[in-house]
Amino acid sequence: MGYLKQIDIENFKSWRGKQIIGPFMRFNCIIGTNGSGKSNVMDALSFVMGERVSSLRVKHIRDLIHGAHMGKPISNTAKVAMRYCTAEAEEIIFCRIITGNSSEYRIDGIHVTFAKYTEELEKIGILTKAQNCLVFQGAVESIALKDPKERTKMLECISQSKEYAAEYNKKKEALLKA
Ligand code: ATP
Ligand code: MG
Repeated sequence: MGYLKQIDIENFKSWRGKQIIGPFMRFNCIIGTNGSGKSNVMDALSFVMGERVSSLRVKHIRDLIHGAHMGKPISNTAKVAMRYCTAEAEEIIFCRIITGNSSEYRIDGIHVTFAKYTEELEKIGILTKAQNCLVFQGAVESIALKDPKERTKMLECISQSKEYAAEYNKKKEALLKA
């Protein structure tokens, strides 16, 4: 099973210039006072995992650039790179860069389309479309309060069990007939 090794950040939210978060262990805990940037770490991770801007607590992608929350972005770009270790590779670097009002995606330094980026993320078990790979502050309650069918749908999407539903039902029917 793979794991996150390190996040390299440049001018993203509360980080000015180039900063490194990590190296991470298999289990990590981030502590800090209110407003110190704990949720920004989750935002950086969500961002590099291809999350849509509306889920990142900002209106426009450029608002993610350091200083933009005060109307004074220090640059036109910001960058988050995720170093990930897999069973096959010691390190894969997924990188998302803010360019103007859009994003550029790179894998190991090579420019790729968003479709290719999410396809490669899926190979390491990160499902951008599931949206709930990361559980944010307040989300535990909203997940608990979901309609049971909605919650099942969400869990099926994350676990990808939906793909096996047809096969499962077929085998179940065959067993019942036997
Ligand atoms: P809490 O414990 O209250 O949840 P937290 O540790 O999760 O707090 P965050 O929400 O991660 O805190 O960070 C908030 C901080 O990030 C604020 O101080 C805010 O000024 C700063 N911040 C947010 N956006 C930017 C930005 N674009 N540039 C610089 N700083 C920013
Ligand atoms: Mg927080």
